[in-house]
Amino acid sequence: MKDFGYNISKGRSINLDEYRPEKVDRLLEAVPSYKWCIGCGGCTATCTAGGLTDFNIRRIHNAFFRGQYAGFAEQLDHCMLCGKCLLVCPRGVNTRALIINMRRILEG
Ligand code: SF4
Ligand code: SF4
Repeated sequence: MKDFGYNISKGRSINLDEYRPEKVDRLLEAVPSYKWCIGCGGCTATCTAGGLTDFNIRRIHNAFFRGQYAGFAEQLDHCMLCGKCLLVCPRGVNTRALIINMRRILEG
């Protein structure tokens, strides 16, 4: 493909067989502030782990809500729970609690 200096995003689909609304309900119950997320990406921009690895916290929490759990455990392991994302979030989302609870919920 010709290099235009940018890439077109790959198509994505949601596998409804993998989607588990009860997991989303549990996460919202544990971290109600996630309802205020506007997807601005501030958490990703400041993330310590994101500067060192391909970890992207916004991509991760969006994927969780779509039921796209492939590769999740390995991705979550990159987070150092430093809390920088929490400090910059303009909506007061408890992003660190999101990470901790996504881990818990996926483990069982
Ligand atoms: S910084 Fe806050 S509002 Fe912005 S994407 Fe992250 S969690 Fe959502
Ligand atoms: S707590 Fe995790 S997700 Fe948030 S800035 Fe630190 S390493 Fe990134």
